[in-house]
Amino acid sequence: MSKRDYYEVLGVGNSTENKEIKKAYRRIAMKYHPDRNPDDPQADEKFKEATEAYEVLSDTKKRAAYDQHGHAGVDPQMAGGFGGGNFSDIFGDVFGDIFGGAGGGGGRGRAGPQRGADLRYNLELSLEQAVHGDTLKIKIPSLVACKKCDGSGAKPGSSPVKCGTCDGQGQVRMTQGFFSVQQSCPNCRGAGTIIKDPCPSCHGQGRVEETKTLSVKVPPGVDTGDRIRLAGEGEAGPDGGPAGDLYVQVHVREHGIFERDGKHLYCDVPIGFADAVLGGELEVPTLDGRVKLKIPPETQTGKMFRLRGKGVVPVRGGSPGDLMCRVVVETPVNLTKEQKDLVKQLQASFDSSEHSQSPRKSSWFEGVRSFFDDMKK
Ligand SMILES: [Zn+2]
Ligand SMILES: [Zn+2]
Repeated sequence: MSKRDYYEVLGVGNSTENKEIKKAYRRIAMKYHPDRNPDDPQADEKFKEATEAYEVLSDTKKRAAYDQHGHAGVDPQMAGGFGGGNFSDIFGDVFGDIFGGAGGGGGRGRAGPQRGADLRYNLELSLEQAVHGDTLKIKIPSLVACKKCDGSGAKPGSSPVKCGTCDGQGQVRMTQGFFSVQQSCPNCRGAGTIIKDPCPSCHGQGRVEETKTLSVKVPPGVDTGDRIRLAGEGEAGPDGGPAGDLYVQVHVREHGIFERDGKHLYCDVPIGFADAVLGGELEVPTLDGRVKLKIPPETQTGKMFRLRGKGVVPVRGGSPGDLMCRVVVETPVNLTKEQKDLVKQLQASFDSSEHSQSPRKSSWFEGVRSFFDDMKK
């Protein structure tokens, strides 16, 4: 298979600067990254092709060699594998916050200790905590670096020795016919070192299970689905490798009064029959205390009143949301005989009135009448 021109692969010109090459590669890598395209061999191919091109073009020496001699000018071993140092560099910052998965694809097959796994913690919050923010202590079971051996896994006083198979490189070159491929050293599993005398505390693992107590700062305005990243609070890496990250996944519990939709809050406000008819001033709850709400006379049930700015200030900034109060008119219950008589009197007065006093009821009956009239035709 003939290789495509590296510049063409990244869609850049021959004189494009390194910074732009990095950008072009990021764009392609984000699109075709295996984490985003599971089981898609074509995407995988594109991703590898772009990675190879980037590894050559981002390296001044390799690029010069490539410019002069084309593909023959660059060592296929250097270009083909995932061995380049730049690779993990670029993924450290590109994929760190997006995927958060096992390693995010960075440093695959690289020599040296592996990064620990990322952890996820589900944090339940009340609506008040989510809206106002809070600082909470959480307990997470995790693997932490062993204190006895400082995570090295070697018995205190001894230290890991260089692996003889790979001479400390962590990688060995295997020759198969014409090809020579680089792979993780089978003896030290890529670590480059071997533990002769394991630490008794962690049995040579360098990590022990421990329940960590962490303080999590919840910023005001978070909502279900948001996550807070605590860098380096995931599992410790094996063989003294760097720790992964902890992702705190926010879940906001349902509230007894308010319903939340993004930055807006909704609540039902029951009002009495007399207030609905005559109008009045109600006290309605907000997350910051009670406020007064004026109800005009002849307010119908279902009417929505908007209290501007009484919603949530979004965590990513922007104007605060509103509080929508939906009025629900209540039918009085447990009437005394006297009250019932008064209602009957009122009803009689409505019946003899020349204007309709139930606008919705009138139009509804109007609609029903024409419905039946149409059926007769
Ligand atoms: Zn080795
Ligand atoms: Zn230990």
